[in-house]
Parts: sequence; C-alpha cells; structure tokens
Amino acid sequence: MGFAKTCPLCKQDFFSLVDYMSHIKNNHNKERPEVFVRENGELKWSLRDDG
Ligand SMILES: [Zn+2]
Repeated sequence: MGFAKTCPLCKQDFFSLVDYMSHIKNNHNKERPEVFVRENGELKWSLRDDG
C-alpha cells in the first residue's frame, strides 16, 4: 500500500503525501483546498455551501 495521487490541476502523479503537499504549497498555494479534495470525496462537508 502506498500513497498515490494525481494533482487535479496539472495532472502530475505523486506517490508521497509529503511530495504532494509540497507540490501544492509550491505550485498551487493560491488555490482553494476544496480543489484538491473534491476527487476522493474525503471532505464532502466542505463542499456544502448551499446552507
Ligand atoms: Zn499540480
């Protein structure tokens, strides 16, 4: 088992959470966090803004 994640913005593959988070910080630090959690649905609650 291991970490595997594709950046939703630039489609780059990462196999380390540290690398992935670092990539986001360095390249997409202006993006909202929802962009990165939308795919796996970990934080569905954060997308509920219709209340
Ligand atoms: Zn990226």
